Amino acid sequence: MMKNRICELFDIDYPIIQAGMIWCSPWQLASEVSNAGGLGIIGSGSMYPEVLREHVEKCKKATDKPFAVNVPLLYPNIEEHIQTIIDYEVPIVFSSAGNPKTWTPKLKEHGIKVVHVVSSAKFAKKAVEAGCDAVVAEGFEAGGHNGREETTTMCLIPLVNDAVDVPVIAAGGIGSGGSILAAMSLGADAVQIGSRFAASNESSGHENFKNRIVSTNEGDTVLTLKELAPVRLIKNEFYADVMKAYDRCASKEELAEVLGRARAKKGMFEGDMEQGELEIGQVSAQIKDVLPAKKIFENLLTEYREARKAICDKVFDL
Ligand code: NDP
Repeated sequence: MMKNRICELFDIDYPIIQAGMIWCSPWQLASEVSNAGGLGIIGSGSMYPEVLREHVEKCKKATDKPFAVNVPLLYPNIEEHIQTIIDYEVPIVFSSAGNPKTWTPKLKEHGIKVVHVVSSAKFAKKAVEAGCDAVVAEGFEAGGHNGREETTTMCLIPLVNDAVDVPVIAAGGIGSGGSILAAMSLGADAVQIGSRFAASNESSGHENFKNRIVSTNEGDTVLTLKELAPVRLIKNEFYADVMKAYDRCASKEELAEVLGRARAKKGMFEGDMEQGELEIGQVSAQIKDVLPAKKIFENLLTEYREARKAICDKVFDL
């Protein structure tokens, strides 16, 4: 099998990466995806330091393939997370939500590959200047925390691809083999998939959340709370409260009060579908079932092959 430069960089079989999502990406999911030939990522943003240690230990036992940890750079106990990653010799880190200059050099000193998540070409260049080995270019369609500019994946990938020489991993709106092919046609070297894996058996999201993903329709998600940290979520009672706050021209401080603490945990992990924050991408409208991660991965490969064949009949000849 021919390996592209992301497969070479990470030593994986397929350029398909499972996103490190808060409350949804435990060792069970990451190891299944890595065992299937992709790259699994543990989402450390919602894990206390001792919880991350346990997940890394278990992931190492469950797979002998490479896996990664996603570290949001605004995480309060980040030094402890970084130490865990170094101590356990985690080969790859995906960082997000912060300045990549802060931790990339230290991780690289330990031989760890670093990938930073960006939402613009400008930040992609900064990630490369900081020494990152690749970037994830995440478009407007993506679930959870996102860029303010609302650049869609379709527009973002070519922009980032033109701006940097390192491999580009497309994210946002990708949940099928067809969208993998589309992202690669735009110049991506790989894809990162979140929502589809949030609705997997191995995801640590609450059952209510997984069922809600499956029943989500077109138009049910929205990018909001740009004054705090822009986030795409499912419209529910909590979102209605946010809208009421906007109607009364609430200040940033009042919006932070409406958000409160641990809102994402309440929704995605504890299963409160009305008062919780339900972070998911637009692509959730295409997701119709909760499946084992291995099956999701196999489906992606089958769909990709079919899409590649079908495109030959559809494109125009010159
Ligand atoms: P909140 O500030 O509302 O709540 C913190 C949540 O994180 C709580 O649910 C808490 O669990 C859990 N947690 C895990 N480790 C710690 C720790 N060391 N100290 C405090 N809390 C911890 O955060 P959000 O729910 O909005 O965000 C959760 C995480 O998502 C953030 O900590 C951050 O790492 C990440 N994030 C990522 C972004 C990105 O990648 N783009 C952007 C914004 C946030 P408990 O309730 O059990 O105490």
